[in-house]
Amino acid sequence: MNLRLARLHHPVTTLGPGRRIGIWVQGCGIGCPGCVARDTWVAGPQHDIAVADVLAWCAAHADGTTGVTITGGEPSEQPAALGELVHGLRALDDDWDVLCYTGVEWDEFRRRCPEAYPGIDALITGPFRITEPTDLLWRGSANQRLIPCSERGEQRFGEWANAERERPELQLQVDDERVWMIGIPGRGDLARVQRALRDQGIELEGVSWRP
Ligand code: SF4
Repeated sequence: MNLRLARLHHPVTTLGPGRRIGIWVQGCGIGCPGCVARDTWVAGPQHDIAVADVLAWCAAHADGTTGVTITGGEPSEQPAALGELVHGLRALDDDWDVLCYTGVEWDEFRRRCPEAYPGIDALITGPFRITEPTDLLWRGSANQRLIPCSERGEQRFGEWANAERERPELQLQVDDERVWMIGIPGRGDLARVQRALRDQGIELEGVSWRP
């Protein structure tokens, strides 16, 4: 089974608790105005990768990993591949927690992804709404909900459901010619990142948060 994949990162420390593997799927038809990940909207055959290969990459990055965050893109648009991925992650390490972002609400995610849902510990649900800024931890807008979906999810995510971040946290990772921003930017953060990079002599030619 193939997954349409945008990218993989490790370690990710700004999208969920602990030290995580981050899996960004490719393809999203929701189209939230102000989305910072516009580069993940359109999927094509060049994004196809075997789920087994993604799992092998995760196994190679298991050392010190406490959980996996699946985001995108819209994971629920690939229900069969997501189901295989989540079950494979469970088989790799049953102590990892799995957090999944989705632009749809909880009941719609469950309806779309009956195979993946039982293996997911927590969901962050709902579309990004640029008109509803928030300081809620790991969320981009105030409508988005952090929902524990399992006993482990309750243990690891329950206390954060209504928590606010003390300060915005963003990671920057540099691969070849690209700078990847990981985390949920607050108001003005994107311009600040761009200015800070410019001060270091790095000029961004294109960014994922503008068409
Ligand atoms: S914020 Fe998420 S759901 Fe909304 S358009 Fe961007 S990738 Fe899709």
